[in-house]
Amino acid sequence: MAALFGLAIGSFLTVVIDRVPKGESVARPRSRCPGCGTQIASRDNIPVVSYLILHGRCRTCGIRIPVRYPLVELATGVAFAATAAVWSSNYVAVLLCAFCAVMIAVAVIDVDLRIIPNRITYPSYPAFAAAVLLGWAFGLDLDPVRAAIGALAYGGFFLVIALISPRGLGMGDVKLTGLIGLALGAVGLRFVGVAAGVAVLFGGIAAIGALAAGRGRKGAIPFGPSLAAGAIVAVVFGGHLASWYLRAAA
Ligand SMILES: [Zn+2]
Repeated sequence: MAALFGLAIGSFLTVVIDRVPKGESVARPRSRCPGCGTQIASRDNIPVVSYLILHGRCRTCGIRIPVRYPLVELATGVAFAATAAVWSSNYVAVLLCAFCAVMIAVAVIDVDLRIIPNRITYPSYPAFAAAVLLGWAFGLDLDPVRAAIGALAYGGFFLVIALISPRGLGMGDVKLTGLIGLALGAVGLRFVGVAAGVAVLFGGIAAIGALAAGRGRKGAIPFGPSLAAGAIVAVVFGGHLASWYLRAAA
């Protein structure tokens, strides 16, 4: 069920990714083919399935549909299914699925445009803070104090790095780490630690890859996707990774 729900949300995320950076509405109008402008029919708007049936082409004009549409849908479906499998509280699972959806949208937009839109991070803060408070009020294992500590610790750490080397990190990265610290801190500060460790690892791999591909330091690669990927890894594998690390360190 979570996988199907994730596919549908992933389809919505492709709209968010296309329109939010341009300041357009995600509700209207309905999606159109970028090639011929034909409104996409409902039967051609089924996540992943339509792409496969149409062989990745518009039904009307035959222009190629970018493969990232089904990939975003698939990634969201997998992230939702994995999150639902790991987290036994339905409320916490839904909260973390929403968090994964935000991470996927931010990662793809940052790859595309090298920005992390305030239009996504700003409303996410009150939304996730309210969801954490509500869950905590109902006695769930969500801690607003840990959320605040996580946001200040992760966001503060990256704020210092961004101030020291403003060319490496943008304020978008700082706002994103604050949000990750908030959402993951609420379920446990060790999840923030895992997210940070995995993000640095991914960021390092991406930097080495860019150097190997001959793109020097000037073509700085965005760090947002590594931060987002680290956060999703923490949601799904954070419990295991944290206990493994603590055992290894002991
Ligand atoms: Zn078309």
